[in-house]
Amino acid sequence: MSEILESADLVPARMLNEFTYCPRLAYLEWVQGEWADNPDTLDGAFVHRNADRPDHQPIDTPKTEAAVDEKFHARSVRLESAALGLVAVVDILEVEGNVATPIDYKKGHAPDIPEGAWEPERVQVCAQALLLREAGFTCTEGIIWYSASRRRVRIPFDDVLVARTMELIAGCRDMAQGGKMPLPLVDSPKCPRCSLVGICLPDETNLLLHEAQSPAPTPQKADAPRMLLAPRPESIPLHVVEPGARLGKRNDRLVVELKTEKIGEVRLKDISQVCLYGPVQVSTQVMAELFEREIPVCYFSTGGWFRGIAHGLPHKNIELRIRQHAVAADPARSLALAKQFVAGKIRNCRTLLRRNTEDDADGLLESLAQSAREAERADNIASLLGIEGMAAKRYFAGFAKLLKEERGFRFDGRNRRPPTDPANATLSFLYAMLARELTVAALACGLDPYLGFLHQPRYGRPALALDLAEEFRPLLADSTALSLFNTGELKPDDFVCRAGAVALKPAGKKAVVAAWERRLLSDVTHPIFGYTISYRRVVMVQARLLGRVLAGELPEYPAFKTR
Ligand code: SF4
Repeated sequence: MSEILESADLVPARMLNEFTYCPRLAYLEWVQGEWADNPDTLDGAFVHRNADRPDHQPIDTPKTEAAVDEKFHARSVRLESAALGLVAVVDILEVEGNVATPIDYKKGHAPDIPEGAWEPERVQVCAQALLLREAGFTCTEGIIWYSASRRRVRIPFDDVLVARTMELIAGCRDMAQGGKMPLPLVDSPKCPRCSLVGICLPDETNLLLHEAQSPAPTPQKADAPRMLLAPRPESIPLHVVEPGARLGKRNDRLVVELKTEKIGEVRLKDISQVCLYGPVQVSTQVMAELFEREIPVCYFSTGGWFRGIAHGLPHKNIELRIRQHAVAADPARSLALAKQFVAGKIRNCRTLLRRNTEDDADGLLESLAQSAREAERADNIASLLGIEGMAAKRYFAGFAKLLKEERGFRFDGRNRRPPTDPANATLSFLYAMLARELTVAALACGLDPYLGFLHQPRYGRPALALDLAEEFRPLLADSTALSLFNTGELKPDDFVCRAGAVALKPAGKKAVVAAWERRLLSDVTHPIFGYTISYRRVVMVQARLLGRVLAGELPEYPAFKTR
């Protein structure tokens, strides 16, 4: 389990197991460095931890002194061979004279099949045998120890298994060197148990590929994707908005203190990000723990500007970043993406207005529909930006009319840097949180959040996050603002005005953050995939789909457009 890839030329036996299970899984893990735990992988890690314990005795270890003299056992034995192009870590190696027997630990029950073990597991242990033979040992059989059924299963290394293993080693190496991710399995029962299902998106990718090949409605429309994703993430961001607060760690919990008083506490395993607003202190111990757990820390100014992000080591998927840079250097491909971001945003702006207005007396909805069509046809970035600017002006004029006068908020168009009225201060704060959400999503997917296609690179600007944010502005930020204003959750005295600049007071910030989190956790029916998931999941799915487009797997970015 602790086997790691040290050389691109050597195929790890564990990856051979994955490749036999699903070539795409091997590519994601081996070539792109993706990893995600699920209950199966955590169980597997626990079983291997036992195998690695120095005091652990493998089952059937000879107990007599004479037998101990004859046999010896070694744990976590690393073997590699350039000739075979293979590297492996044997959980337990049993050696008697010149005869070596690899013992591989597996969680779960021994399957009730004639071969005694599934093919990926037999291939993995056979690969270990090939390495032992190469090292001069006689190795005719291996053992798989199934921890749940506490059973040893003998795996004979016959010619058929050896030939199959050699074929798979070559196939795995070719796949890695080919630089093309294999397509997802189709409607496979393996996918629901695969820990990378949320990264791979098998049914979603197959559906989009099917639709790209037959854009006109066909009688044989691909099956709707199965609901393989958890609808909601298990962890959520921690926001600390109290000026002067201090974030510390006690055991497996983060504790928020103001002066000497504890004002909050949360388990580390329940946190996905930490967001700090203004003068909030964090201990080095907390930072180290957060980096270890791959939890990013996002910094905002007191006024809500997204200032930066700190995280542990960058994502290993360098292949994706190389492809992102190649697309960014290609004006035609950049424009194709930019058009989808802008058209998606305009359509969602139109949807927000349509849902909140009774008629379209001044033709605003039709004019936004027209702008979206023009955006889809734009032949350069300058004209696309012009279309987007005009549409935004008309949209915000319509947005202003949605505010209930009696709540005391007015909106006379967007202003920022600094915002000069409460409505703009709230929108700026929400847009900053949206940019942070997309920055975290881009980083989690292995993308470079600073290299965009619509937004041009500028020092410190998360251009890609801003690109991805476009389609979500009306759906997440503007709709949250509207609800805060019209329900009275935010009141004019939640704001402070200094030297013409308007900002939220701490209580106002708390209200906005709470409303934002509610919005992110609210469910939406996916317009393409048909299942119901939280908006926070949608954001991550969109970042993954963009990655698929950059990698050349999907031909077109499918912006998220609600109906
Ligand atoms: S989700 Fe399915 S297709 Fe994707 S990597 Fe896993 S097993 Fe393969």
